[in-house]
Amino acid sequence: AAPLLSVPPARAEAAAYLDSRVPVAGRVKDLLGRMTLEEKAGQMAQAERGAVDGDQGQITALGLGSVLSGGGSTPAANTPEGWADMVDGYQARALATRLRIPLLYGVDSVHGHNNLVGATVFPHNIALGATRDPRLVREAARITAMETRATGPQWTFAPCVCVTRDVRWGRTYESFGEDPRLVTAMGTGIEGFQGRNLADTRHVLATAKHYAGDGDTRFGSSTTGTYTIDQGVTVTDRRTFARIDLAPYVAAVREERVGSIMPSFSSVDWTEDGVGNPVKMSAHKELLTDVLKRRIGFPGFLVSDWEAIHQLPGDYAVQVRTAVNAGIDMFMEPYSAPQFVRTLVAEVRAGRIPTSRIDDAVGRILRAKFQLGLFERPYTDRSRAGSIGSAAHRAVARRAVAESQVLLKNDRRALPLKPSQRIYVAGANADDLGNQAGGWTVTWQGGSGATIPGTTILQGIRRNAADVTYSADASAPTAGHDAGVVVIGETPYAEGVGDVGNGHTLEPSAADRANIDRVCGAVRTCVVLDVAGRPQIVTGLLPKMDAFVMSWLPGSEGAGVADVLFGKRPFRGRLPVTWPRSEAQEPINVGDEHYDPLFPYGHGLTTRPRS
Ligand code: BGC
Repeated sequence: AAPLLSVPPARAEAAAYLDSRVPVAGRVKDLLGRMTLEEKAGQMAQAERGAVDGDQGQITALGLGSVLSGGGSTPAANTPEGWADMVDGYQARALATRLRIPLLYGVDSVHGHNNLVGATVFPHNIALGATRDPRLVREAARITAMETRATGPQWTFAPCVCVTRDVRWGRTYESFGEDPRLVTAMGTGIEGFQGRNLADTRHVLATAKHYAGDGDTRFGSSTTGTYTIDQGVTVTDRRTFARIDLAPYVAAVREERVGSIMPSFSSVDWTEDGVGNPVKMSAHKELLTDVLKRRIGFPGFLVSDWEAIHQLPGDYAVQVRTAVNAGIDMFMEPYSAPQFVRTLVAEVRAGRIPTSRIDDAVGRILRAKFQLGLFERPYTDRSRAGSIGSAAHRAVARRAVAESQVLLKNDRRALPLKPSQRIYVAGANADDLGNQAGGWTVTWQGGSGATIPGTTILQGIRRNAADVTYSADASAPTAGHDAGVVVIGETPYAEGVGDVGNGHTLEPSAADRANIDRVCGAVRTCVVLDVAGRPQIVTGLLPKMDAFVMSWLPGSEGAGVADVLFGKRPFRGRLPVTWPRSEAQEPINVGDEHYDPLFPYGHGLTTRPRS
């Protein structure tokens, strides 16, 4: 019996898909050939962290392709180690499957690794749009990727390359602006996230979202019905859609080589086909398969948005079949992954979904996993955790804040302020890190207060001037102050129509208006800053101000606002959206007939830096 011992055991390592020297296409083909239908269906499913946490065996039993943290779904220990332990724990479960296919972990790192307390939190995209600087956007994305991957997740659901056409949309701040050319230029963020080589553990897979037309939906009522602006209906013709809504995706695919794309919750209703037949993007075979995958040539995978397929007509089996056949590859089914896998298998067995479609979908997902090097290095490379929230990273964020400030009015040379001036600061948003970070910060909706470490705008001002009085509601006396800085704005929100606390409107709150009245009536020069995700209606208030600055949602580095206020850096930001005179003017966009806004697209005054 001795000769038998010389036969080498059948080692799994001998499989081509496990051999990193084999080209990715060959590895994908080899692995696909070994997989059962159930294993393929598992790869197409993505579950929420909260759902698998109590039942991690689910990852192995279903062979889940991916797990995500929905907004604010963080590990109990919201620290770099807490994240890495969590992701690696799930990964161990994935590697316990028959074929040892690693898991992809996805998060919404949309302005920094914003779910992690202590990360560098960048200004939201609308502010980056104001900088007009694609290189800065790429740098912010590069840092975001590094801080994210250092804690485990290898995939971000960013950037939003949405083109916001109506600032009443509650996701306006996730957009780089209203002009498709600007949004397209800012697609450089994709290269910042992905780098040239995804296997480099400083990078993450990016997602261009939400394909397409999410920022271009109708709002209000019309003769054909009532429209909601988030998850709404884009009513347009194919040519206009291509020019405005699709354009950023062409560049994202062909130039930036984005790895994944997320179809939108919204619907499209073609005017040339006769309006009245809106089709949800998750079911839009023409736009997902014919246009995006075939004509534009997208080789990556499509991931559905959060339970988006549940919004399709029909029962669950019909929803799954419709979305898969339309071209969706991975399914964000946070709490119904087991049901999804079962249903998908049954639909394929019944011949209602072709196996070629399944192989195409799974092939696209596996390709990303091979490109990310996950088969070779499935676990977190924790060696870069020290860079999280580092001084160098914060310096880039602070520069981005300064470059994004838009000076809309500056009479009597109110700005820059001088360090010798006696300064009176008012408004809650002057001293609130949570408010200046906005939504998608630690929690999905974001929150007020000291939710993250950083500097507030007030702290930045205090570092520049010796005599500073702060009163949130302007109740302390103002007499004798040279300058007033009133910070107005919104409180955090994510998705929907925006600032719920403020009654969904673009009007500044009563408290903010009172602060402007009190302070601007009592100081020599009055400067107003707007800390908000979109323009607010200030038409009647503007005459009371000497200077007006749009500060957007700066994130963790409020000191960057003070840098321009005191002339350490020039004001250079330019409006990435049109500033309306009234809410009734929306939607209003550059190029419209009868364009008569309060401030046009591109407006922004400059100041010379103080020497
Ligand atoms: C949002 C997406 C996000 C997803 C996962 C959805 O509600 O529309 O932008 O990526 O949640 O958190």
